[in-house]
Amino acid sequence: MSTREVRSNCPYPLASRQNQAANSVITVHDIQIGTHSPTIIAGPCSVESLDQIVELAKEIQAAGAQMLRGGAFKPRSSPYSFQGLGDRGLYYLAEARKVSGLPVVSEIMEASQLDTACDTIDVIQIGARNMQNYSLLKAVGRTDKPVLLKRGFSCKIEEWLMSAEYILSEGNQQVILCERGIRTFETATRNTLDLSAVPVVKERSHLPILVDPSHGTGVARYVPSMSMAALAAGCDGLLIEVHSHPEKAASDGQQTITPAELKLLIDKIHLFYKIEKNTNKEVALHG
Ligand code: PEP
Ligand code: MN
Repeated sequence: MSTREVRSNCPYPLASRQNQAANSVITVHDIQIGTHSPTIIAGPCSVESLDQIVELAKEIQAAGAQMLRGGAFKPRSSPYSFQGLGDRGLYYLAEARKVSGLPVVSEIMEASQLDTACDTIDVIQIGARNMQNYSLLKAVGRTDKPVLLKRGFSCKIEEWLMSAEYILSEGNQQVILCERGIRTFETATRNTLDLSAVPVVKERSHLPILVDPSHGTGVARYVPSMSMAALAAGCDGLLIEVHSHPEKAASDGQQTITPAELKLLIDKIHLFYKIEKNTNKEVALHG
């Protein structure tokens, strides 16, 4: 049966754990997303210049991150805010990849941006505001690029999985989910980071799930603790906004950490995983 003919009571059969018990692992060059060790993706909210992104790529690599993310097309709430460098930003990312060897992730907002994106970047991000842009989901579903699908800030987990299904049903099986916080009555944080989505998604779907604590909280000093909490909840990795000078960032500086802070966090994550691995061994031995 072709993917288009899939019939099931579940509205997202291809994304569902019912139809595939084993976790999906998405391979990007030599990086595997969805295995035991977490994937750390870091970079600025916006690509600002060639020097900025090349320098930062080297800094986040030294800190231990495995992939570089930067926005070239920025979905800003106000039309007067910095909208990103567009295609030029994608070329700068490709250059940063050449220099550092790190695979790159960037968001596209329209299908017309796909051709350049496919030539320049490794993973296509679909942002929260476009999670239900079905024609865009179908278009990325017809490419062979891994897709990082963020959760819409007013969308239920089931709606998110149905959006993943749009991509899968077009033939692209490489979907990575990303929880980035939802809108609630709380205003102390920019969004409410719904970490309970992690075990729910893990139960319902075989797709890997990342967590973005930067947009999830909107506050740089909350990023390390929510990163650890996300990993403890069982996510497959993190998407973190990092800038060499957050106070000068063109967008989202208030939620952005420095490369030095990223390094401290990644060191802590490695320690956490070492302990978790040993604890699991103990449980297996004595359990
Ligand atoms: C971003 O990743 O910079 C971004 C705009 O995120 P979101 O779509 O989650 O708001
Ligand atoms: Mn941002």
